[in-house]
Formats: sequence, C-alpha cells, structure tokens
Amino acid sequence: MKCISCKKPAEIKITQPFCSECFLKHYQRRVERTIKKFKLIQKNDKVLVAVSGGKDSLSCADVLHQLGFEIAVLHIDVGIKRCTNERSKQVVEKFCKERNIPFHFTSFEDFFDIEDINKFFKVAKRPICATCGMLKRTLFNKFARENGFTKIATGHCADDIVKYFFKTMLAGDKDSILWLSKLKPITPSSHPKIVTRIRPLFEMLEIENLTYTKFRNITVEGCTMCSYFQRKDKWTEILREIDKKIPDFKIKIARTLEKIEIVLPNIQKKEEIKECSICGEPTSQEICAVCKIKQRISKRNAGKIS
Ligand code: AMP
Ligand code: ZN
Repeated sequence: MKCISCKKPAEIKITQPFCSECFLKHYQRRVERTIKKFKLIQKNDKVLVAVSGGKDSLSCADVLHQLGFEIAVLHIDVGIKRCTNERSKQVVEKFCKERNIPFHFTSFEDFFDIEDINKFFKVAKRPICATCGMLKRTLFNKFARENGFTKIATGHCADDIVKYFFKTMLAGDKDSILWLSKLKPITPSSHPKIVTRIRPLFEMLEIENLTYTKFRNITVEGCTMCSYFQRKDKWTEILREIDKKIPDFKIKIARTLEKIEIVLPNIQKKEEIKECSICGEPTSQEICAVCKIKQRISKRNAGKIS
C-alpha cells in the first residue's frame, strides 16, 4: 500500500493511506481549515487549551502550537479518587516544558475541601461524570476569564460529537433538537463572564488523534478516562460497529451538524444567563451548580441529610 500523497510506503490507513510525514501534514491542514472556516482564532486572541493528558487534548495543544498560534495550557487535577491520575499532570507539564508553552494548573480544591467532595461523590446516586464535567467547565471558564484569555480550546473531536448527537437524539423531547445547536466548532460567549469555547478538532477522529501523537512522539497518559466513565461507555462499542461499514461516518455527521444553523438560523438554545446570587459566576439558575453542591455538602456535614 502506497501513501496517497507521495507514493512512499504507507504507514497508516484510516480513511486513506499515508506515510507518517504526509499524515501529519494532512492532519494539520485539516485542523487549520476548521480554524479558518469557523474563525475560531483571530489575531488578538489569547488561547487557553484545556489539556487532560489524553491523546485528544494533547493533539489539540500540539497542532495549535505547530500552526504558530500562541497558546497556554491549563490542566485540572479533579482530586476525586478513581478519576484522578497522578501521571497526567506530569505528562502535560513535560509536554509544555519541551515546547516552551506556559503551563497552568488548578484543582477542585479551589472550590471545595477535597475530603468533602470525595465524600459527596461517593454517596452520589447518579453517575458523577456530568457533575465532574460541569465543575471542570466552570473552572476552565473562571481561570480563563480571570487571566485574560479570550478563547478556551478543548480536545473534543468528531467521536465525542457523534456520541453526544446519538445520546441527545435518543432523549426524544423537543429540547433535544435545541441541544444540537451546541454541537459546533465554536460556542460564542453568551455573557460577559463567559469565555468563548472552541473545538479545533471538531472534524478529527479519535484514531487520527492517537496516530498524530504517535507520529509526533508525544507521550500520552493512556488511562485518563475515569473508571466511572469506562464502565458506562457502550457508545464506543456501538460506533465501532458502524465504523466497520462506513469508516468516515463520524466526520460526515460532524460536517452535517456544522450546517444546522444555515437551515435553522433560530435553533440556538436560548438560556437566560444570570449571575449566581451567592458567588456571582454565570448560571441559568438563581444559584449556580457549584454553590448548590456546596450547600448540600454543608447540610450533610451538619448532619441534616445522609
Ligand atoms: P472529557 O469531557 O473528559 O471528554 O474532556 C473534554 C475536554 O475537556 C478534553 O478534550 C480536554 O480539552 C478537557 N479536559 C478534560 N479533563 C481535563 C483536565 N483534567 N484538565 C484539563 N482539561 C481537561
Ligand atoms: Zn455560585
């Protein structure tokens, strides 16, 4: 099998055969195209890349750096037993040091006593991933805003988008259609305290990100997904089955989702964003989710609920 571009022996075939050099060029070109097409990064932007230490967010940081964008990296230690992987921080820090990228680090300890939050998650009735994700997003936003960043980039890729698409469609209510408007490469700020979010890898596949880190010799912390998540994720299995028949179906779905607003310009999920009456962080409720958790923890500590 020959590389489709230079005709040297191919080293990888995902949708098309490539040698490693042409694969890297092709990968970077595609990300650059997404950035230009959706105006993800403008001249004066200060970009903060949220990096967990996994293949997707490390690829995102590396490709932005390679394309010449000035970036800084933020890593969050969630501090929750079973979700935390101590090596992740070291991997991200080393990656930044080798490239001279400013490295920032913060943790859930900014919000909570870490023992309290561990206890809270231990007795939680529902899966904690949604709460953990919400806390991370709140921290990304707070850190970015307080440190003058104008964009937050995450490593979300076509696989994440398609999983979310199916889960949303299965919910079967009319709000699900509105949620689709969130599935795009950029979520502009909807409040002065909310920093615009960008997803430069929107059209890239997980397997392409893994291959990118391999060919670029980037050390990845393999098991950054928490044990809660791994147990639940039947979607990876389902998508793998579809992949066997249609190898680029995720990219095609991501590209279709990008066009939703062209045909449905009023599809935006309109949430009124206020400021939390306790901490002042942006929220669609009277009290933000972080303050609600704090209230539950204090009630529990006071022995009012089990
Ligand atoms: P996930 O919801 O775990 O799939 O993560 C989605 C994106 O959030 C990743 O691609 C990263 O950009 C970012 N992210 C997740 N966990 C962390 C973390 N612990 N520190 C920094 N960024 C993270
Ligand atoms: Zn609050």
